Amino acid sequence: MVEINFDHFKNNAKERAALPSPFLPFEHLDTLWLQVTGTVCNLACLHCFISCGPKNDSHPVMSKTQIFDALEEADTHGVKEVYFTGGEPFMHDDIKEIILRTLEIAPLNILTNGILIDDEMATWLGRTFRKSKYSLDIRVSMDGITAEENDAIRGRKTYGKIICGILRLWEAGINPVITVTTCHDELGEAEGRVRFIEMLKSRGISKPRLKFLSPFKIGREEHRGGGYEVHEILKEGDLMEDESFDLQCSSCRMVTAKGAFPCPILIEVEEARMGDGLSDSLDGILLDHPACYTCHVEGVTCRT
Ligand code: SF4
Ligand code: SF4
Repeated sequence: MVEINFDHFKNNAKERAALPSPFLPFEHLDTLWLQVTGTVCNLACLHCFISCGPKNDSHPVMSKTQIFDALEEADTHGVKEVYFTGGEPFMHDDIKEIILRTLEIAPLNILTNGILIDDEMATWLGRTFRKSKYSLDIRVSMDGITAEENDAIRGRKTYGKIICGILRLWEAGINPVITVTTCHDELGEAEGRVRFIEMLKSRGISKPRLKFLSPFKIGREEHRGGGYEVHEILKEGDLMEDESFDLQCSSCRMVTAKGAFPCPILIEVEEARMGDGLSDSLDGILLDHPACYTCHVEGVTCRT
């Protein structure tokens, strides 16, 4: 976590607003993000920073052709890893085919809420995990140690279904990374994290893997937890040269059915769109969105 003294600027918002935003050069395409199911999801979590849900097709589901084209383009640029996100990637009709194609090119991480991973899918993923040339990692999101805590964010009766998805993966030989967004403050503290580990161990996950993320105060989260304050925006001088590499957007790009974006967080920000395809987006960016403040100050990266 980076310490920046914003106290002066809290009282001098106009002075701060007049400063230019920092420019972040693009280093190399290490990571390709694919918004495979757009903003379509089987859940409508209250903290979702791109407001996904069953009826939100603001970014439509990507076609197989769009996905394969982006993968091929990324391959020519030497991509080192690929992430699938949405929405819920396991809602994609061709999910198995696109997983197999991706694993011919690079290691793959899939971000999911775990609910659609039934026995058949878990067994198939386990088999694929064991025999593929590159690694396959699954990240399952869960936002509480108890049903009460989780369901308050992810929706009624989701806790048990998520746990079932996690256990199916575990039994199929995959130890998923459990991703926790710290909407409940105590989950961001050491004690909360220990309790989370203990809960997973009590369910039979002997070596829990956990990733904790601070919420981005945009999308639906803006209505749940509140939006950014005026001073919460990066300005020139906040970012030291050697800190640029810590930001995933110095080496990642996101492709959706609607074009290319700097990262998975800003796909609903029209001004953030960088072009029609991946090659249009391999350039530096201005860190002029409040969400960039969370990435820098909280040290958040969506990568595993
Ligand atoms: S946070 Fe994830 S699971 Fe929840 S609505 Fe958004 S995309 Fe779907
Ligand atoms: S939101 Fe974060 S990852 Fe996206 S452009 Fe800003 S700093 Fe980079």
